[in-house]
Amino acid sequence: MEKKDYELQDGLIRLWSTYIPERAGDAVKEILRSKWINTGSQEKLFREKVSQKFNIPHCVACTSGTAALRASYAAVGIGPGNEVVSTPYTFIATNTAILEQGAKPIFADIQYETLNIDPKSVESKITRKTKAIVCVHYGGLPCDMDELWEIGKKYNLPVIEDSAHALGSKYKGGYIGSRGDIITFSFQVIKIVNSGDGGIIATTCEEYYKKLKKLVWFGIDREEKKADLLDPLPEWIDMLGFKYNMNDITATLGIVGIDHFDIPFERRNQIGEQYRRELAGLRKIQLVKHAADRSSNYQIFPIHVEGRLDFAKFMRERGILVNVNNRRNDRYTIFGGLCELPNTARADEDVILIPLHADLSNDDVDKIIDAVQAYDRI
Ligand SMILES: *Cc1c(COP(=O)(O)O)cnc(C)c1O
Repeated sequence: MEKKDYELQDGLIRLWSTYIPERAGDAVKEILRSKWINTGSQEKLFREKVSQKFNIPHCVACTSGTAALRASYAAVGIGPGNEVVSTPYTFIATNTAILEQGAKPIFADIQYETLNIDPKSVESKITRKTKAIVCVHYGGLPCDMDELWEIGKKYNLPVIEDSAHALGSKYKGGYIGSRGDIITFSFQVIKIVNSGDGGIIATTCEEYYKKLKKLVWFGIDREEKKADLLDPLPEWIDMLGFKYNMNDITATLGIVGIDHFDIPFERRNQIGEQYRRELAGLRKIQLVKHAADRSSNYQIFPIHVEGRLDFAKFMRERGILVNVNNRRNDRYTIFGGLCELPNTARADEDVILIPLHADLSNDDVDKIIDAVQAYDRI
């Protein structure tokens, strides 16, 4: 009989895990029993909880991080003929959502040391066709936001932060999402908090908020539905929207996830800090550079490794799964062909993830550290 993916990984230290709080099952059971599973009170509560916990002025909920990105791009008016300056070093969703809007991602180079977009390169890619700047807080490490916001202001361009990796990360004392134009989060299964699938669009701008609420449900703000005997919809629908609304089953999982956020967050932080202490100063391994004015939620733990394939084999022999998470997006023909991006090219050759998630035991963590150190010695 053919083996399932998870069976192949039996006994191995896995690269990913899905964190599901104990209470999730009962909470979903209650909401199923209530029979209201469409977008409703739980969706509203989920948005409120995210707003409160991370100090975010306005939150809109939707079906996924990708939907959040596309709705955000639509909200700032990205459309056919536009260019969007973006990072090539990310999961492809950041950039496929630009294509979905009929626009073209123009790739800026990254900083080799942080894997985040380089503001200097961003500025050099801006043309009259540029409609927005998109950055990704890679692995949970915040980008150089002051520099990016400054460029946004100078050229009158919104900065959209794909923060799928960065729920709970902090920049200069504030949570990601508490400042900035539009910030998107994902609640997909391997993210620090998951709702099965799901997304949150955060904004500090009232205008974007009003628009986004309509964009996620057919151009209608669901909270403006009337208690009309015949027709609950508003008189007019003046914009085209998506069908991206989050239902109450999803929202219930999200609520439980946010209520328990500190558990995976603290565990990830513990492991991440231990890796950074014990894997610092090696010969063949280089850690990502963390500036003192920001902190990562340790969504993933990328490292630069000399001899990446040998490293992967070495770790696999010790029962530890490692993986290249993302490839430079411009290698995929849908984006129009390879670009001249020296730092991206270097990172694309030597970055790999080692496991970091809430299900790792202390023993697992020790084994991983020992193995990485042993690789470094050969
Ligand atoms: C996970 C992820 C997304 C997409 O989120 P989904 O909820 O899976 O649609 C987008 N960007 C990055 C960087 C991601 O890691």
